[in-house]
Amino acid sequence: MISATDLKNYLYCPRIIFYKKIHNLKEPIKNNILIKEGIKKHITKLNKNKYICKFLEGFIERKVEFKIYNEKLKLIGVIDELYFYEDELIIIEYKNSIYKGEVNNGELFQLIFYSLLVRNEYKKKINKGYIFYMKGKKKIAEIIFEKEDYLKCIKIIKNIFKIIDDEANPEVLENHEKCRGCEYKRLCFL
Ligand code: SF4
Repeated sequence: MISATDLKNYLYCPRIIFYKKIHNLKEPIKNNILIKEGIKKHITKLNKNKYICKFLEGFIERKVEFKIYNEKLKLIGVIDELYFYEDELIIIEYKNSIYKGEVNNGELFQLIFYSLLVRNEYKKKINKGYIFYMKGKKKIAEIIFEKEDYLKCIKIIKNIFKIIDDEANPEVLENHEKCRGCEYKRLCFL
């Protein structure tokens, strides 16, 4: 199974997929449980204030923090919130971070990845999602799902499966900027 975290790792560096999925090495620290716990606390707090519900009023149902997977596609994800409307669905993702002026690629494709799963599961239109940045000035970023983004996401998923199936170790990144903060740098630069 491939998760949204795998997708984000791939976008950071494809080689991480090799370490994590083929050699079962532990995840980078940024994905650890303590951070997820922190996000959960934020969600609880916000839901208490009814802030999110008001922002998205008019929905007929809401699912919170649930696992969704598709055996056929071999994809799995945990969605923070999903809002059901008469004719569409809206995904919400919470980030325990500050908005830095734009939604980064990892965040964008995480939502696209979730929307692929949701679309398959509920057979309803899903054209957009929101990311709530919980730190600093608490920004809400709207993401419109474009066809090209779906195609790119599918390509990324295929590339990840290819690394796993071929057990191929992708090249070390040419630009070492990201390597400085990478958990796997000792393995890459032995
Ligand atoms: S050290 Fe650099 S090349 Fe190696 S996995 Fe990390 S980001 Fe990729």
